[in-house]
Amino acid sequence: MTILVDMDDTIVNSTARWVDYANHRYGTAVRYDDLRDWNVALAFPMLTKEQIYALPYEEDFWRSITPLPGAAETLSALKEAGHRVLIVTNSHYVCLKVKMEEVLFRYFPFLTWDDVILTSQKQLIRGDVLIDDGVQNLVGGDYEKLLFTQPHNRSFDAVSAGMTRVADWREIAAYFHLQEP
Ligand SMILES: [Mg+2]
Repeated sequence: MTILVDMDDTIVNSTARWVDYANHRYGTAVRYDDLRDWNVALAFPMLTKEQIYALPYEEDFWRSITPLPGAAETLSALKEAGHRVLIVTNSHYVCLKVKMEEVLFRYFPFLTWDDVILTSQKQLIRGDVLIDDGVQNLVGGDYEKLLFTQPHNRSFDAVSAGMTRVADWREIAAYFHLQEP
């Protein structure tokens, strides 16, 4: 199978770190679990949108990102089982070098630049399945849809939209009938 995999908030903790990073910078106390919307600025009404959205343009922010539990082990096992694993990400070009070198290739050393597809239009990509926390990337795609649970999509009715909700990488490993990582 060709398995398409989102990066932010699917294999690494980008938005959770973003919230912590903003709390540290501005002395706020927002909890990632309390996010109800894809727009992180809505969880920080005490700050300006510019203050929040400037943070992911800082290289040090990306250096603090870490993988989600089981993501690297499961993707590695999927490759070893003979599947093609491709990272499909809508990453911004400004911090792309540090994001690839110090996050993706650091924690997922079995992936190379040849395994990365950059696009904001994931529905144009062909694959058997897409694992993604963004509903907007799954709707309308010609692939099996695994919705990776994150606070912002918790209230979304995945079943009615023809998606399979997965809570963590253990459930994804089970979906593909892998041994537990
Ligand atoms: Mg994502």
